[in-house]
Amino acid sequence: MSSGFGVVRSRGEKQRAIELEKKYKVSSGGLDSYADPPVDEHSIEFLRDCAMDRYQLLKAIDNAVSAGKKGDELDRAIREAEEKFNLRRVTVTDENYPSMTEDGSVRDSLSHHILRLAHCGGAGKDDEKNERSEKASRRNWFKQMETRLFEYRFRQLSRKEQRLFLASNPDYKSFRVPDREEVLLHQRELAATLESDHDFRNNEAKKRPDGKMTTPEFGRICQEISRQSDRWYAVEFEEVTKSLKTRSAYMVKGEAWVQKGAIVELVEKKFTSHLGLALAKTIRIWEKVKLNETNRLVPLLHSVVNGKSYAYTGPEGVVSIAKIEGTRDSFPLCMRQLYGALKKKHHLTHNGRRQLQLYLKGIGLPLEEAIVFWKTEFTKSPECSAEKFEKDYAYGIRHAYGKEGKRVNYTPHGCQQCIAADPGVRDDHGCPFKTLTCGEHKNGEKLHEMLTHMNISGGKSREIVDKAKNMHYQIACGMTFAALHNGKEIDAGVHTPHQYYAESRKILAPPEEKAEVEVVAAN
Ligand code: SF4
Repeated sequence: MSSGFGVVRSRGEKQRAIELEKKYKVSSGGLDSYADPPVDEHSIEFLRDCAMDRYQLLKAIDNAVSAGKKGDELDRAIREAEEKFNLRRVTVTDENYPSMTEDGSVRDSLSHHILRLAHCGGAGKDDEKNERSEKASRRNWFKQMETRLFEYRFRQLSRKEQRLFLASNPDYKSFRVPDREEVLLHQRELAATLESDHDFRNNEAKKRPDGKMTTPEFGRICQEISRQSDRWYAVEFEEVTKSLKTRSAYMVKGEAWVQKGAIVELVEKKFTSHLGLALAKTIRIWEKVKLNETNRLVPLLHSVVNGKSYAYTGPEGVVSIAKIEGTRDSFPLCMRQLYGALKKKHHLTHNGRRQLQLYLKGIGLPLEEAIVFWKTEFTKSPECSAEKFEKDYAYGIRHAYGKEGKRVNYTPHGCQQCIAADPGVRDDHGCPFKTLTCGEHKNGEKLHEMLTHMNISGGKSREIVDKAKNMHYQIACGMTFAALHNGKEIDAGVHTPHQYYAESRKILAPPEEKAEVEVVAAN
């Protein structure tokens, strides 16, 4: 079959695409920007394996980030996952061009494009509302993880490979890697601009034990850095004004010159923006794909999204309505917030219902009890009669359990999905470590109030709030867990609200509950 994902090409077009791909493979510096879908032919099984492996790779990145890994530790985790799932694009530099292992690069490109398509598939009419929000969150997650992977890979390239990548990808033509002679030619201007940068001077001074630096010392550092040819990159000025504080760039003959860290940030932003556009475009071609590939690619995409990697086969029946109330202390903050709002308002908006319904399913509440639980709460409101509940809300609960619509047993939302949510003022869903440290809550006081209300000490609460303000939401959640469980931590980090619950029950559950806890924790 064609792996051009159902897009019918003429023979001439296909030949041109193959030639382009070959050229690209030897000239792109070993890194793929995924601008074009692959054109080789592969079996459905091969495509499915590639897609599943990439999902595992992205999941491993997600887990590593959630566990608070960064810098070399995070790089090592990504590298190990690439190797484990045979998705490493090893560069082998020959005399003329760097290239990559054929197998790794083919699997890398195929798997990216299949997952991209799998995250953009359309929704059936009856499932439209639920599926739109599920898919938007998944697409966001996919974009974030792919960007992390790309950023890591770009940093791993040698300067020569980076030059080849930037030069061979039209999307990145506004970036360039100057050669040594050019850097030396502009050395005096670079030194002069560095010397006039107060922020740079302050940062350099901070590296000293006494935090001070004399003007001659600073001058020597500027001279030295301005001569380091592997440190500088030239960028069209427009890119800098869009993405960086202009003070991080130095104007040299009408072009902005930036240092290593800044170029990685700019290239990463460009990748995210192109991937966002590509995802939007992929949504539009979905209908065409469906028509051309009803019997081959469409079932594959469904199995990638709904198959073993995403399918939820968790425990059912280990939590009753009565037990929900008794185990509230094991709820993570997001679920305490939703549960509290439900008890207070006897209503939740659509996304809040979905997040809490799937979580309760994840901790083991069976469908029949879920219907009773939601009905009891909703009908406490004078605005919701039993008939209205049956008509407007019961379907959504059955849908979450895979008993309506496409009958997919939906997986409870992971932390990334909750974090990616964008709740409005009437909503209670999302991750409070994010929602209560941004927008009108950016001072973190509301979050601090919630944490102290849970008997977390003021000092500890401030530490957690600071972590959340720095956008380390899952780490802040892990710190909250430790504060509430006598300092015991979740070794693997917090990945999903129902995993938080299971880890908490391992500690807080009475002995007779332990066997059930093992079942929940295993899922
Ligand atoms: Fe919930 Fe995850 Fe946020 Fe913790 S980090 S509050 S479990 S979404």
